[in-house]
Amino acid sequence: MNDDTHTNPRPKPAVAVVSACLLGQPCRYDGASKGRADVLRWRARQLAAGMVVVAVCPEELGELGTPRPAAELTGGDGAAAWRGEATVRRVQDHHDVTAAFQRGARRALALAPTVTVAMLKARSPSCGVGRTHIDGAVRSGDGVFAALLRHRGVEMRTEEGLEDGEGAGS
Ligand code: SF4
Repeated sequence: MNDDTHTNPRPKPAVAVVSACLLGQPCRYDGASKGRADVLRWRARQLAAGMVVVAVCPEELGELGTPRPAAELTGGDGAAAWRGEATVRRVQDHHDVTAAFQRGARRALALAPTVTVAMLKARSPSCGVGRTHIDGAVRSGDGVFAALLRHRGVEMRTEEGLEDGEGAGS
């Protein structure tokens, strides 16, 4: 007779990803963080629900360094960059850093391959969800990491979607 407690593996906890800068890590391009109390509370709710929460900074994982020159998408959004139809370039000198952004996005996903939910920093060329910096303005489209997560069916939101809004801009 089989004993299910021994033959069935324990279900793995669901995994959420969060942009590390929103938890206070000083990993932004300018060396600053965007730590927010409401994101800390969001993380606490995920943990209380039994989820694993993984903080990632795709640009640091891409070895772009901190601080690093500001960059933006050129010619399209993050999804277009994955299709080879757009690039990520440094604002100052237009140097192409697409490969580093994609490497960092892949490494971030590799840290949480079963991710189903993500809380990402709004408008970042990596983490922006639905809106990001493209060709000198904030336009419709995901950042490079967010586009990768969207392709995987991950449910995404940004700190701007939090209802209590406390801690904004800290
Ligand atoms: Fe934050 Fe994402 Fe930019 Fe890293 S890449 S600093 S996690 S917005």
